[in-house]
Amino acid sequence: MNERIIIVGGGIIGLALAWRLSQSGVAVTVIDAGAAVPPATPAAAGMLAPSFEELAGPISGALYDFSVASLKRWRSFAAELEAESGEAIDYRPFGILGVAMDESGAAALREAFEAVTALGGAVEWLTGDETRAIEAGLSDRVLAGVFAREEGQVDPRRATRALREAVSRRGGAFINARIRRIVRRGADAIGVETAGGDRIEGDRVVIAAGAAAAAIELGAAAPVYPIKGEAVALRARGDNLRCVVRAPGAYLCPKADGRLVIGATEVEEDASLEPAPAAIEGLKRAGAAAFPASGAYREVERWAGLRPATPDAAPILGPVPDGPEGLFLALGHYRNGILLAPETAAALAPAILGGEISPLLGAFSLARFKN
Ligand SMILES: Cc1cc2nc3c(=O)[nH]c(=O)nc-3n(C[C@H](O)[C@H](O)[C@H](O)COP(=O)(O)OP(=O)(O)OC[C@H]3O[C@@H](n4cnc5c(N)ncnc54)[C@H](O)[C@@H]3O)c2cc1C
Repeated sequence: MNERIIIVGGGIIGLALAWRLSQSGVAVTVIDAGAAVPPATPAAAGMLAPSFEELAGPISGALYDFSVASLKRWRSFAAELEAESGEAIDYRPFGILGVAMDESGAAALREAFEAVTALGGAVEWLTGDETRAIEAGLSDRVLAGVFAREEGQVDPRRATRALREAVSRRGGAFINARIRRIVRRGADAIGVETAGGDRIEGDRVVIAAGAAAAAIELGAAAPVYPIKGEAVALRARGDNLRCVVRAPGAYLCPKADGRLVIGATEVEEDASLEPAPAAIEGLKRAGAAAFPASGAYREVERWAGLRPATPDAAPILGPVPDGPEGLFLALGHYRNGILLAPETAAALAPAILGGEISPLLGAFSLARFKN
């Protein structure tokens, strides 16, 4: 196959696609703006948590199914990626434990538990003591919990490094440039133009540019916008948690390197990358309320990132309706880009290569935003 595929965006979505496409023998070039447009991916905590997403919005059912499919795919994706890249990605399928610390929190958790159970989700209801049997360090104030035994987390920074290495080993190329627009010949997309006016040609173009995608002239409006998230990493002393804990006001993700990542805020209409001190203190306080030992942990890093949001909180995947032939979108993964990367790549790669559109993709077409 001599096809040349251009992928604009080297976050987890662009890289996962680049890897899957390069495994099919096509020539892939990943173009990324680098520090000029900081990615969301290294800011993510890395939870793989379909059961803890709010089940609201017009296509939340399709999104839930897509999320569960991607969670299942993560196991083999992680093993294959580590084998191909030679890099460990700290994939930890050790479960996610949602906890409530007062009666109204327990009632809300119970409601969420019942909604996920009705969809066939594998979740268990626990008493406070049962949560402490799983994580002994949890506060005595934890009243109840929901355990999603099959869910877990990965280290997004390590996964990014591994994906870049795997793409390189498959012969993929990387270019550091900011793309301004799609280049067309008649009805076809034939490449991209950089902000400096250079043209890079290809047979197909995939836009995986995250929260900044709307700044690229695509020939169609992609309703993607940033929602800021702040997080902090602490250095655990003594025993860290083993599974992810989702507590009121914060989630806690223990990493293999001894960090405890605590996230995350949701701030609209602020595209700065400065973490607000009060927000970080709030996360630490909420973390320590559920897991008191973390109150004595030293902070090692704080940061903010811009999630690529869409009006219905679901991604935009597939060709551009009435747009140039050969142009594809992989955008708007909002709070779940790490979770959704394997399924996004698995569903989109065949569409890009052969024009075959997986039924899973139908719900996520840009066409849903028309009118
Ligand atoms: C604090 C926080 C916590 C999160 N926690 C989780 C979590 O636990 N689990 C989870 O699943 N998700 C989580 N997310 C969401 C996740 O980070 C995103 O959904 C995901 O990283 C999106 O990946 P992406 O590849 O689409 O975009 P990005 O990672 O943003 O990558 C896009 C890339 O495109 C490049 N780019 C943009 N414009 C151009 C251009 N014009 N030309 C060339 N290149 C361009 C950028 O430089 C960037 O590298 C979190 C996000 C935040 C901020």
